[in-house]
Amino acid sequence: MTETWPARFIAAERYRRHRYAANHPLAIPRVSLTLDLIHSYAALSAEEYLVSRRASEDELAWFHTAEYIEAMQAAERAGKVSRASRQRHNIGNLENPYFHDFFTTPATATGGSIQAAEQVLAGYLAFSPAGGMHHALPDQARGFCFFNDPVLAIMRLRREGWRVLYLDIDAHHGDGVELAFRDDEQVLTFSLHMDTAYAYPFIGGGWRDWGVLGNALNVPLPKATRDGEYRWIFGQLWPRVLRAFQPDAVVLQAGTDILLPDPLGKFAISTGFFLELVEEVLHSAPRHPHGVPRLAVLGGGGYHPLTLARCWTGVWGLLSGRRLDEALPEAGRRVLQAVGWDEDEDEDYYPVLFERRVEAAGDGPPREAIRRLAGDLLEQHPLWRGMT
Ligand SMILES: [Zn+2]
Repeated sequence: MTETWPARFIAAERYRRHRYAANHPLAIPRVSLTLDLIHSYAALSAEEYLVSRRASEDELAWFHTAEYIEAMQAAERAGKVSRASRQRHNIGNLENPYFHDFFTTPATATGGSIQAAEQVLAGYLAFSPAGGMHHALPDQARGFCFFNDPVLAIMRLRREGWRVLYLDIDAHHGDGVELAFRDDEQVLTFSLHMDTAYAYPFIGGGWRDWGVLGNALNVPLPKATRDGEYRWIFGQLWPRVLRAFQPDAVVLQAGTDILLPDPLGKFAISTGFFLELVEEVLHSAPRHPHGVPRLAVLGGGGYHPLTLARCWTGVWGLLSGRRLDEALPEAGRRVLQAVGWDEDEDEDYYPVLFERRVEAAGDGPPREAIRRLAGDLLEQHPLWRGMT
């Protein structure tokens, strides 16, 4: 594929200084490590890099309550979360702990995702890796997510009247985004995830959970879902979704916790297949008249820093039209080794993490449960009604 388009990478240096408490799954470098790895490939020009702005209070209020925004700001000013805010807004606890710049850092990640939507409106591809916080609710933090930037990015596109297809490939159900658009038939949320019968948030309604308007498509998958199975079911659904919904743009939440080594995810997906999936979305997304795909990519979960940084570097390579070698440049190898990640030392894939992308369990026919799931969705989901 020789076709290339202008792309923008949106981030901020503040993520380098941002740290959760040592025992939290997010106490790892993510955006800063990705940026360092991209630079080791010399794969980001000054023109392509946009400094993330902080979302304004007005923007946050498109989705979040004034009380919640104020509670986040008050916690940052006080240097701690009040007991009332902890109870009411689910912040300042083990799941959603207090950290320095408690309001400013998530508000900046959110601003970056709104910018990504604006870049797509202006004719660019855009990647906001600090975004993808898909669990946050209007009045509460949920699952490490404080402000729901995917919702606000979609709302920015909706303000221009665009129909938006939200595709969420994070290992977890994109429940907060689904909830936000349950009354907006101009938005379709399509989430493939670990079945919530065994995974966070543990409350999903399974594949029959398609909302009153039928504008949610949920694909709960079993443990150990591997490349061939994911490729098969995605291939069954994705072209039909595009045809049935006819979006003006796609917003992709690209959490990497579906990758095999991820400590919180239970799938066995390889980085190679993850990139194949992103490439498929890139080439099938709706386009501007001048040919640029209307695609905003946001970050998301991902708790294995080395595979996350390798994967998102590959995503940026695809969006920006660069073929980035699987073998790391010497500087890139040093960047990953400096993380000091030794939690997988006993795993088979550990020695090759610095040589190549991790291979997963691979291909093979889908298990019966996955075949049945696809059959049920294709037969019963209201999205296909009226399709010829
Ligand atoms: Zn996740």
